[in-house]
Amino acid sequence: MSGTLFSDVMLFDGTGAARFPGEVLIRDDRITAVARGDERLPREGATVIEGRGRTLMPGMIEAHGHLTWPTSIERVINTMKPLPIEQHVLVTAQNARITLDAGFTSVYSAGSLGERIEPALRDMIDGDFIPGPRLRASALEKGAEGVLGVPAGHDPTHQRDIPHLRAYVAQKKADGCDTIKFLMSSDDAFQPGGSQTLMYSEDEAQAIGAAAREAGIWLACHAQGSEAVKRALRAGFRAIYHCTYADEEALDLFEARKDHAFTAPAVGLLWARTHEAQAFGIGPEEAAQMGAPRGIELGQKVIPEMKKRGIRVLPGGDYGFPYNPHGRNARDLEHFVRLFGFSPTEALVAATKHGGELMDLEVGVIREGWLADLLLIEGDPTADVRLLQDKAKLAAIMKGGRFHKPPSPTFH
Ligand SMILES: [Zn+2]
Repeated sequence: MSGTLFSDVMLFDGTGAARFPGEVLIRDDRITAVARGDERLPREGATVIEGRGRTLMPGMIEAHGHLTWPTSIERVINTMKPLPIEQHVLVTAQNARITLDAGFTSVYSAGSLGERIEPALRDMIDGDFIPGPRLRASALEKGAEGVLGVPAGHDPTHQRDIPHLRAYVAQKKADGCDTIKFLMSSDDAFQPGGSQTLMYSEDEAQAIGAAAREAGIWLACHAQGSEAVKRALRAGFRAIYHCTYADEEALDLFEARKDHAFTAPAVGLLWARTHEAQAFGIGPEEAAQMGAPRGIELGQKVIPEMKKRGIRVLPGGDYGFPYNPHGRNARDLEHFVRLFGFSPTEALVAATKHGGELMDLEVGVIREGWLADLLLIEGDPTADVRLLQDKAKLAAIMKGGRFHKPPSPTFH
């Protein structure tokens, strides 16, 4: 028998319960036992990791990932357009590894700059050929490229009639995608007032919803304006990103569907665009023109209200811009605490348990029988979520029972 035993750890199990001292035993890729207090688990054949009071928590989930967006904390690639495909595939694989290095053991895709990159990447990761997080894969974001300011890197076909939309959904399923992303609204960053421009009619949205249910594929969307949010909810979309201008009626609709739908506002991008993008030609004026500071302000009203209603609001989103690089994803938890009134524990639950529910996998909670995606953290993230941004504090990263980042020898 082999396996790993984490001993003398403080467990944050992802549910929101206070940390408790204990042990966790892993055999193969699963958590097989969790002990509390002084109870000791069988050690036979297991490598024992002495935690010395460090925190063991579930791996985090990036709820709104764009692994094909080029820039990471390791390299700036100053474009948001598709790269030559050979380079793009390799850069994406690099970004997957960097995201896992940052403590994110799962990523739910919010769209890709290539049609087939993510299903292929997911299969390479699942086959254990390259390092990366578990991935719910997607394709190009569907929205008319070149129309209403929608930039390159979106679906270029412009075939938006219902038969073509139905065929598109079926094709994405055949391509091996888990989720499809639609631009339900445009965006203020694409063109002024874009957030209020609807990209699909009610009939089109309903047809997309029906086709997706038939094909067995999830739907995600970019939805800024209130009508876009409502339209997506009525059509059965599962991940409804941003919700920037959601009004009372949109919030009521969301609340009624809160067991089936999620949101991730992607505030990290807005923050970086507002405060940190000067070197990339985006000063205060440009940021305002793109609606970034306004987006943060609106979020500070909408997000706390969503949380109050029990809607699952998840951290992460839109990393991969030159000024919002992959690898910085954990900063979203700090934004949730500082801007949206989440307690550190609430932000952690959103990044773990709720993220696991979005993935629809047995991840995000430390529970017997569930997948062993775990982080060993120096310090107490339930007191200060900023710890998670510091690589030196990420003492170990385990995915599927194996260490992506083993604890340093001094832990043994
Ligand atoms: Zn996005």
